[in-house]
Parts: sequence; C-alpha cells; structure tokens
Amino acid sequence: MRIDLHAHSTVSDGTETPAELVGAAAEAGIDVLAITDHDSTSGWDDAGAAARRLGVALVPGMEVSCRTPEGISVHVLSYLHDPAHPGLLEEVTKARDARLSRAEHMVSLLAEDYPLSWDDVTRHVAPGATVGRPHIADALVAAGLVGDRTEAFATILSSRSRYFVQHYAPEPALAVSLIRAAGGVPVFAHPVASARGRTVGEPVYRAMIEAGLAGLEVYHRDNPEDRRPFLLGLAAENGLFVTGSSDYHGAGKPNRLGEFTTSAEALGEIERQGRGTAVVR
Ligand code: AMP
Ligand code: FE
Ligand code: FE
Ligand code: ZN
Repeated sequence: MRIDLHAHSTVSDGTETPAELVGAAAEAGIDVLAITDHDSTSGWDDAGAAARRLGVALVPGMEVSCRTPEGISVHVLSYLHDPAHPGLLEEVTKARDARLSRAEHMVSLLAEDYPLSWDDVTRHVAPGATVGRPHIADALVAAGLVGDRTEAFATILSSRSRYFVQHYAPEPALAVSLIRAAGGVPVFAHPVASARGRTVGEPVYRAMIEAGLAGLEVYHRDNPEDRRPFLLGLAAENGLFVTGSSDYHGAGKPNRLGEFTTSAEALGEIERQGRGTAVVR
C-alpha cells in the first residue's frame, strides 16, 4: 500500500483542482491520499467524489497555519476532523482572512519596486482559495521577473526579504487542542524544515504534545536527514506515530506524489483516533 498524507489543490496553493489531484494520485499508484489544503476544507467534496470514482481512498485533511509568539511559522496537519466545528473553523477563517490582507500588503510593497498589481495576483487564485505567497510568485513569473515559484521563494518572496509580511495564525498548541476538540488527529508537518525559516525548540514540542499532538511528519523532503533521529526519539518517548508524505503542490513545486510515504500502522492509528469524519473509500 502506498499512502501519501500531505497534498495541496487549487483550494490553496496547489495547481490542480481537487478532482485532478486525486486523478494524479491514481496515476502515480497512490492507494491512500490525504488532501490537506492550507486552512480550508472546501476541496473535500470534489476530491471525495473523484476518489470513489477512481478507487483511491481519500483521507479528508487540512494544513493549519500557526505561528509562535516569537514569530516562527509552524504547520499542523489535521486529519478526519469535523469541518464545521466552530472553534477550529473560527481560527482557520481568521488565518485565511489575515492571509488575504497580508498578501495585499506584500503586493503593495512589491509594487513600489516592480511592475505588479493586485489584479495580476488574483488572476492566479481560484475563487475562494486560501491565498499565499505561491500566488504572488505566479504573478512574478507571469511578469517575467522570476523563472518559477522556487526562484521567487529563494529571492523576492523569501521570509527574509524586505517584502515579507507575517499574518495572524493561532499558536501551535491552540491549533492542536482545537483539532482534537473537532475530533481530528493533529500531526506536526515538516517540523525541522529549516530552509523555510526558523524552526521551533523543545518547549513548543512539549506544549503541542501536552495539547494532544498525535504524530510527527518525519519523512518529508524539507526535514534534513541529520535531524530525523531527533524527531524519531521524540516520537518514541512520547508515544507519537510518525508519517511520511510528499507535500505535493502539482506543478508549483518539485515534490512528487509518493516520494515519501506513511505506514499502514500510522494510517490505522489516524483512523482509530479520528472522530470528526471518515476516510472516503
Ligand atoms: P505562505 O503560506 O503564504 O507564507 O507561503 C508558504 C507556502 O508556499 C508553503 O506552504 C509552501 O507550500 C509554498 N512554498 C514554499 N516554498 C516554496 C517553493 N520553493 N516553491 C513553491 N512553493 C513554495
Ligand atoms: Fe503550500
Ligand atoms: Fe506546510
Ligand atoms: Zn503542505
């Protein structure tokens, strides 16, 4: 069984619709796929219908944007939560709204130095989608200012760039407890992805574990290999399961479906703990 539990669609910053994403998974020989758009579950229905049609099992999920008080970005994957749970819904809605004004702010800063308008960006955002830097990157590519999203992130859109603006996001431990309250299973996404920016220290792991963290995404291309023993030790000490996934974004990133996978045992644990919704088979 090939199990990939982290993938994005046009509902956030992926380049394929939810149905196309499931189609790509079927083509790549994935048996179980989780759709995990940033701060949104609006791809679940279309992805679920495609999954039934194509014989792929679909785990409904979401990647919750979080930020520590020191300003370190943290992503928490939520599996099988109730998408209508008010507490979690309120936080991700706040983050989604904040992402919109933050993107507008970044574009207004960029417009001082580059021929770029907000219209150029919205052209690349599907209706209702969670807006992110990848959409600004698409506008930069279309304007011929960079070659692709990766170049944009390495230069103009880097978290160290002068055009970078933060947005509201809940603290990681709050997100973990809200995911649990919504019947979901919280997994710390790419915890040691240092190329993206600063990563958190042990006190943040502690707080997330106390709040009910279920697992760690150990096998991910952005986790440097020499940091994996640290994560595996933490998982063993605290009874957390470990996952591995691609973080596929379609044509938007080099990540390929199934480049890292999750064990059937970890998937079983997710199904055992998840109470908000069920795997679509
Ligand atoms: P944001 O959430 O708006 O701050 O943008 C960060 C998102 O951009 C991450 O969730 C990634 O999915 C995406 N991203 C980060 N680095 C890259 C890259 N090099 N190429 C394409 N997308 C990226
Ligand atoms: Fe993304
Ligand atoms: Fe992420
Ligand atoms: Zn992701």
